[in-house]
Amino acid sequence: MFKLFRVVILLFILFVVGAGTVLTKWRSTSWKRPQQVAVYPLNADGRPQTQQYIAGLTTESFAPVTAFFEREAKHYQLPIGDPVYLKLGPQIQQLPPEQPAEGRLAIMLYSLQLRWWAWKNDAMQGYRPDIRLFVLYHDPALSPRLPHSLGLEKGQIGVVHAFADREMTGSNQVVMVHELLHTLGATDKYGPGGLPSYPDGYADPERQPRYPQIHAEIMGGRIPMSPDQARTPESLKLVLVGEVTAREIGWRR
Ligand SMILES: [Zn+2]
Repeated sequence: MFKLFRVVILLFILFVVGAGTVLTKWRSTSWKRPQQVAVYPLNADGRPQTQQYIAGLTTESFAPVTAFFEREAKHYQLPIGDPVYLKLGPQIQQLPPEQPAEGRLAIMLYSLQLRWWAWKNDAMQGYRPDIRLFVLYHDPALSPRLPHSLGLEKGQIGVVHAFADREMTGSNQVVMVHELLHTLGATDKYGPGGLPSYPDGYADPERQPRYPQIHAEIMGGRIPMSPDQARTPESLKLVLVGEVTAREIGWRR
């Protein structure tokens, strides 16, 4: 009897979580109202230089991100002009749980841990974000290479690794938007070695001659220069949303 009761409770929880996920998915890709995004900075290496960079951040620092969404929404003739509303949240002191290298179960558990961590550490007042981006800033002098960033559709959480360097602000924002779009259901469009996949990962697959491309497709990540070379876009001005990504996030039927 007790066992049956436990099974019923468990099924009920699974149902609620499942229904919640479906509802979020429907709400976030129907684009009837702007998606509310919160950006929480974190000092990944504890360095005073990194802290100084974070202290200089304001909501205005992320204006290129909202401008990017406005420009692309116009291109896809979205009924709302401002698809994304972004606000800078308070700095978070506790770093997120470490990301496992691989293994489906490990990643599933990690995603639950991360959602729990995000819930516990979200100290934002008077603003209910749909999407939460946790940006871990690193001093480039200490970490010339960054760990992988990620964006989870379930829970709509992104963990972004970025450089605490004004020169890198543009490329940091490219990574932020990439992960943000993952939380809305967009998939990666690059292959081995980080080369954008043709045609979906190209901003202008019809371009003649095909190389060099001028823009990067946001989920392709980089600007293809030749069949085996691509470069990192230094700002969102060099990035756009391709047709397939637009369909994945509900901008195209
Ligand atoms: Zn990705």
